[in-house]
Amino acid sequence: MKTHNKIIALLFFFVLTFNLTGFAQKTTTGLIQYVCSPCGQSCDKEIYTAPGVCAKCNMKLVDKKTIVHKTVTPSELSKYIKATQNLLIVDVRTKEEFEGKAEPNFGTIKNAINIPISEFEKGAYSKLDKNKTILLYCSHSHRSSVVSYLLTQNGFKNIVNLSGGMSVVTDRSVLKNPVK
Ligand SMILES: [Zn+2]
Repeated sequence: MKTHNKIIALLFFFVLTFNLTGFAQKTTTGLIQYVCSPCGQSCDKEIYTAPGVCAKCNMKLVDKKTIVHKTVTPSELSKYIKATQNLLIVDVRTKEEFEGKAEPNFGTIKNAINIPISEFEKGAYSKLDKNKTILLYCSHSHRSSVVSYLLTQNGFKNIVNLSGGMSVVTDRSVLKNPVK
């Protein structure tokens, strides 16, 4: 009879432990913080409790923990470009914007190459060198932020996004053909 009680007690203990573990897992899942990929706007600090899109910038919300790319601000840009070795600068805007043929013309960064976001969405990153530091930019940092996230999700480790985009870059020294 005593052994019987011990077995029951042991079973009870196991059931309780498993339930607690399950409870802990559920609680952790409930704590996922969803954010839009940082673009330099005020919504960068907003935390959502469920997936969806950001009410302000309309970008897809992702688990905050999965955002691992870095950010450089327009005021740090010139210094950052000079100080970073093995840097590849990628303009993710359209060919027209890159060539300064679109209105408004925010300018193009010196030595940048053009790979539009539409190409990245088709997998264009496979030809990029994963050992390089890649600085991405667009006009308002929405497209470049999405591409930054896409690249880190595909194994790129050194990805940097220009926050705010070319529309807020006032340092004309970084431009290929300074716009007057
Ligand atoms: Zn947002």
